[in-house]
Amino acid sequence: MKLSEIDPVCGMHVDPKRTPYKTVFKGKIYYFCSKICLRKFEENPEYYLEHGPVGMHE
Ligand SMILES: [Zn+2]
Repeated sequence: MKLSEIDPVCGMHVDPKRTPYKTVFKGKIYYFCSKICLRKFEENPEYYLEHGPVGMHE
């Protein structure tokens, strides 16, 4: 098991054991640093998977 996952929205490293923010999309689990990133991903998952993290938090 990996020690950290990349938040697909902002590019931050996320500890999968500690973050409560995660979602399953097409059979894969994605982890997020915050509720904001999770919500952004759920609004448009294909965009983030195609383009990758789009930068840091505003
Ligand atoms: Zn994030």
